[in-house]
Amino acid sequence: MAWFANHYECYRCSEHWIDEWSCMCDDECPSCGARHATPIESEDLTFQVVADAGAFVVLRSPDSAEHRPDYEEVGRFASETLAKQFVARFERL
Ligand SMILES: [Zn+2]
Repeated sequence: MAWFANHYECYRCSEHWIDEWSCMCDDECPSCGARHATPIESEDLTFQVVADAGAFVVLRSPDSAEHRPDYEEVGRFASETLAKQFVARFERL
């Protein structure tokens, strides 16, 4: 698993909402309760690059994440570019 921000649009009332979850799963409309709305778009948030004490830290949501991302540090770099290159290599594995 991983971590995603799913964007939904209700097929019944056109409500738009975002939900973060460990899969690209269907959700229930918070406005009218319509079931099984399918994500129209998903952002992969498995990796996050954050600035910390002058360094750039790469966080990864582990495969065991279910209800929370449970981010863990997988690398610490001198620049954001290096951090993003690390993520790109990781994602190809
Ligand atoms: Zn709705």
